[in-house]
Amino acid sequence: MLTDSHCHLASHRFPADEVGALVGRARDAGVRRIVTLATGLGDLDANLAVAAAHEGVHACLGIHPCDVHKAPDDAPEQVAARLANPLVCGVGETGLDYFHPAPEGWETGHFRARQREFLDAHFAIAEAAGLNLVIHTRDREGDLSLQEAIEIYRPHADKVRAVFHCFVNNFKNAARILDLGGLVSFGGVATFKNAADVLELTTRLPEGSFMLETDAPYLAPHPHRGQRNEPAFTKVIAQRIAEVRDDSLDSLAEHTSRTASLFFRFRDN
Ligand SMILES: [Zn+2]
Repeated sequence: MLTDSHCHLASHRFPADEVGALVGRARDAGVRRIVTLATGLGDLDANLAVAAAHEGVHACLGIHPCDVHKAPDDAPEQVAARLANPLVCGVGETGLDYFHPAPEGWETGHFRARQREFLDAHFAIAEAAGLNLVIHTRDREGDLSLQEAIEIYRPHADKVRAVFHCFVNNFKNAARILDLGGLVSFGGVATFKNAADVLELTTRLPEGSFMLETDAPYLAPHPHRGQRNEPAFTKVIAQRIAEVRDDSLDSLAEHTSRTASLFFRFRDN
């Protein structure tokens, strides 16, 4: 059994009447559990609705760092108010995005400061709800967003675990996250021909330290690169990583799904 630990089934790129077929194709590919993540106040309930409508689909709720300028100050409380729902398996997608420029009318420093405040607030609501956290970081160059997210994580690390999703950084930084009790997850980028370093990193991390994800509809794996991604492609990513780790697909599927179950504590376990 495979688990897609990160995708966005409420995305406008997945028409609502198509989601049943997507989940069906995923199941046919062996992907039995799917985590769909909200990105803003506008899609919290849509993600809960998708999880309610499809067996094996669970939701994470949060405000994406690229959405913090649209969210009111009490947005984290509005997220918190929904976390007792048994379909919710985590808090996110939150984090720091220093890749995209600040939106119009926002100064870069203020935009980033609000992202950091929201990330810290997401840790607080996750802790209060007994849930773990899904973090996005992205930089245009260097790794400032990753370093700052790790520092925001540190004081919460004894209460909340965090996964740094779509991890494309180096072993040293992965090790800093694992030292705090956190995880990373790997998606389509690990299959890209120009990302051999990410693929190599997957061979250096032990079982239990990483999960698989698609980030669908984004970042489709090779040979689907550039197309709309979907949860069924978790299998393509798993096959490539199993190959380089000299592991079997079954074994990789089993331990990455177990890691996801421990992290998200799915309430249908
Ligand atoms: Zn995402």
